[in-house]
Parts: sequence; structure tokens; C-alpha cells
Amino acid sequence: MQDTAQGEGGYAAFRRELQDFAQGACPPEIRAVVAAGQKVTKREYQRWQQILHAKGWGAPSWPREHGGTGWDVKQRLIFEEVMAENDCPPLYHHGLGHIGPVIIRFGTPDQKSRFLPRILDGSDWWCQGYSEPGSGSDLASLSTSARLDGDDYVINGQKTWTSHAHEASMIYMLVRTSKEARRQDGISLLLVPLDTPGITVRPIRSIDGWHHLNEVFFDEVRVRADNLIGEPGRGWTCAKFLLERERLPPANVARLELVRRQVTRIVDEAAHAGAGQRDFSSLRYRLMLAEADVKGARELLGEATDALLHQRPLGVQPSVIKLLCSDVAQRLTSIALDAVGPTAAHRFLADTNMDDDGGDSPGIWIQNYMFSRARTIAGGTSEVQRNVVATELLGAA
Ligand SMILES: Cc1cc2nc3c(=O)[nH]c(=O)nc-3n(C[C@H](O)[C@H](O)[C@H](O)COP(=O)(O)OP(=O)(O)OC[C@H]3O[C@@H](n4cnc5c(N)ncnc54)[C@H](O)[C@@H]3O)c2cc1C
Repeated sequence: MQDTAQGEGGYAAFRRELQDFAQGACPPEIRAVVAAGQKVTKREYQRWQQILHAKGWGAPSWPREHGGTGWDVKQRLIFEEVMAENDCPPLYHHGLGHIGPVIIRFGTPDQKSRFLPRILDGSDWWCQGYSEPGSGSDLASLSTSARLDGDDYVINGQKTWTSHAHEASMIYMLVRTSKEARRQDGISLLLVPLDTPGITVRPIRSIDGWHHLNEVFFDEVRVRADNLIGEPGRGWTCAKFLLERERLPPANVARLELVRRQVTRIVDEAAHAGAGQRDFSSLRYRLMLAEADVKGARELLGEATDALLHQRPLGVQPSVIKLLCSDVAQRLTSIALDAVGPTAAHRFLADTNMDDDGGDSPGIWIQNYMFSRARTIAGGTSEVQRNVVATELLGAA
């Protein structure tokens, strides 16, 4: 496969190659999980990552010299679309999409050789330690500290809402290494193995019954000083670089189309089962409006992709796309919930252990509806995104 596709013909051939690969290489049992709207487990993610890695496609967004594909942004977008169209799992974002690119951009050669190969082959599973009790939207107020002691940093404090910490091997975390007049200036980014003594992970069970959120406590945790990325006190630059990537993942839009397809099927099935007993026209109308917005999100992403391809500034696009995607995801799951109806809701509430994906299809859609409530909070709330858009377009107050 060439590094960059040339012209539309090149992109079309690229799409066909991906299509053949997705259908031939992704295990049917994993595709069935994705198609049903169930949660992909760590083991399934890792298996798919190993298959992609063996093909040389383990890191679509990384440069070739670090084991990536060297694809341009349009190829990466096509990759996400084709994978979603064929019910393949998304890439596990914390390693490949978040900290990997930060290490590539800001890390030392030693850090690159220690951490990147283990992300590529799926052996390390990362989580993000940014938020703390009282420091979410106002992240610069964080207070978890790291003091230098010989060749180590010693960490004390607490992180919260840490997705997947209970099954991760590594955490990338923002810590305060000094107190400066400008709060952002005393923050550093540290990479910490989660089996280090002094770390305690406690579960937070969310409204959908799933356990993926956690609190993580640090009590005199020693980590080697050369696990700090970039200069001490310059972690804010890395954090911003990472957050911009978090808000503009092509996967979000491609996966939205997958959800639209799934919800359309749920509505069709429910209409068929309840034919003559319920009126589905208003559900279909809402579905049509959501479909128009999914297309709109795709257009916006196309424009952003084009801007990246031609090195033009992105401006407010990541925030607008995040706002739109989280809103449409909530509306789609709400349509699915209305389609499956109160009987399924009752079954869900009666079942207190939903760890293993919830069983039957209606139960899954109630879980998905509940999980989608978090979409307007995780990765920066909608209110904060609107502030970003308003400040950029109208200027600071
Ligand atoms: C499902 C999920 C997964 C997450 N995973 C992770 C993770 O892996 N790692 C991690 O570090 N964090 C994670 N988070 C945390 C997430 O980043 C924070 O919840 C988010 O940034 C909001 O912070 P907060 O919860 O402290 O709310 P707050 O910042 O206290 O906000 C409370 C309310 O006030 C509003 N608000 C705050 N500031 C402003 C403002 N300036 N203008 C207008 N309104 C404002 C908010 O919009 C919100 O409605 C996750 C959260 C969720 C829900």
C-alpha cells in the first residue's frame, strides 16, 4: 500500500482494499458484537489490534518511522468509515489516538522506544488521568502533586472518572510539579505503570450499570523521573495537543453512522413486531432528522480533514463537531429506547449486573441510551465547547 493515495481513483482503490481486509480479517464473532451495539471487551480490542498490527495497519495516524501507516488524513478518514461500515471495532483511543501521538511529538528517543511498540502491538492498555474531584472543566486547578526525589518523582493525590483504569497497565497523568503564578505553568505530564506500589483503583458504576469509570488514588507513588514527557512544567502544552485530537477523531463520525444504521434496524424491527398497534411515524421523522445531522457531521469532518490535508487552521471545527456528534448520539439512542419500549426498560431495571454487555438487544439499547448521556460531558462538556465557539467567533468578553 502506498503512503498517500493519489487522486480520487487512488482513494477508491484504497477503500476497496480496506473493505476486502475488513471482511476477511476481522473475526466474525467480534463483528457480531459491534453489529449488535454491544460493548467491545479489552480482549476483543487487543485481538483486533494484533490483527491490524500484523497487517502493518496498527496505527493509521502515526508516521511510518514509528510503526504507523504514513497515511494522509483522507485515508485515515476512509479507514474509519470502512471499518465502521463493516462492523469492525474502533481502535482503542487512549494509546493509539492520545498518548502515542504525544510521545511521538514531545517524547525522548528512549521514551519512544519504551512505550510506542507496546501500544502498537496492543500489549499496553492506557488510561487518562486528567480529571480530579473539583478539577474537570477547570483542569488547570488540578492539585495532584509530584515532587522530585533523586531519580524519581513521588506522586500524591487523586484522579477521578478515569475510564478503564481497572484494566489498564499504564496511566498518563497531569500532575503539579511546581506552584507558579500562572497555574498552567506548574503542570507536567507523567507516564506511570499502574502496578506501582501506592496506587489504588476503585470502581465507579455509571447509570448504565457498566463499570468502566474509576477513582485512582496515589499515595507516595514513585515513578522514574525520565517518565516525564517534555520539560517539567510544560505539560499543559502536551495536554492541549492531546485534547484537540480527542475532540476531532474521525472515528466519532464514522461510528455515528454505524449507530444510525443500528437504530434504523431497531425501529424497523419494532415497527414490524408491533404493526398496527403503535404509530411509528414520529419515530421515523426523528430518525430522518438525525440522519440529516449525521450527514452534516460528515460534511463538517470532511471540511476539517481537507483543512488538515492542506495545513489550514481548524478554528472552532473540533468543538462544533464534538457538540454535534454528542447531541446526535443522544437523539439516536433516545429513538432506539422509544422503539424498544417500556417492557425492555423494566427488564433492564430488574437486572442489576450489566457488566457483560447486558444480554439481549433491547437491554443493550437501554444501556446505550444511558451511556450516551455522558457524551455531552466526557472529553469537555457541551457548555465548555460552546464557550470555545463563542470566544473564537465573537471574541473574548
Ligand atoms: C463517561 C465519562 C468518561 C470520562 N473519562 C475520563 C477519563 O478517562 N479521564 C479523565 O481525566 N476524565 C474523564 N472524564 C471526566 C470529564 O473530562 C469531566 O467530567 C468533564 O471535563 C467535566 O468536568 P466535571 O465533571 O468536573 O464537571 P464540572 O467542570 O464541575 O462542570 C459541572 C457543570 O458546570 C458546567 N461548567 C463548568 N465550567 C463552565 C464554564 N466555564 N462555562 C459554562 N459552564 C461550565 C459544565 O458544563 C457542567 O455542566 C470522563 C467523564 C465521563 C462522563
